[in-house]
Amino acid sequence: MSKFGMRSFVATMVAAAGVGGTVLCSAPAHAAELSQNGFPLISQDQTVEWSVNGVTFWTAPGAPTEKLQAFVTWFDAAIEPVSLGNGDDWSWAEPALVPPSNVSYSNHGSGTAIDLNLERHAGQGASGTFTPEQASAIAAKAAELGLVWGGSWTDIPDEPHIELAHL
Ligand SMILES: [Zn+2]
Repeated sequence: MSKFGMRSFVATMVAAAGVGGTVLCSAPAHAAELSQNGFPLISQDQTVEWSVNGVTFWTAPGAPTEKLQAFVTWFDAAIEPVSLGNGDDWSWAEPALVPPSNVSYSNHGSGTAIDLNLERHAGQGASGTFTPEQASAIAAKAAELGLVWGGSWTDIPDEPHIELAHL
């Protein structure tokens, strides 16, 4: 998740599922709108599906997919496997489920953000879930690829989260 709250997102997902999943329509309700990093919100049928180590991700076509796939492939080999699955990793999310909080739509709504190994890295607010060596390597790889790592946020760290830098 982005800086906007994993717990509230999960609660929203559970609530949405409870009304029969009708929220998960394919039409983008906010097609002309942008997520926080300046990319347009998209529907799931506009995403590209790909997998690393058995875990499937959905991300925006073009540079977002190229960069995020390169990052996850590297992370899986160099940091730790992403193979846990079962909701432990996140990518695109229906924009209606990640509504603007105080600023703008989550970058998950534009398919330009992913979360890796949430169970190990606890999500928003947790810090120090990677060793200093791992954190340095992640930050360096993110910078190399034009990505932003949520673990570098000093206000509310989000160590599982990686996203495309602002356009
Ligand atoms: Zn995230």
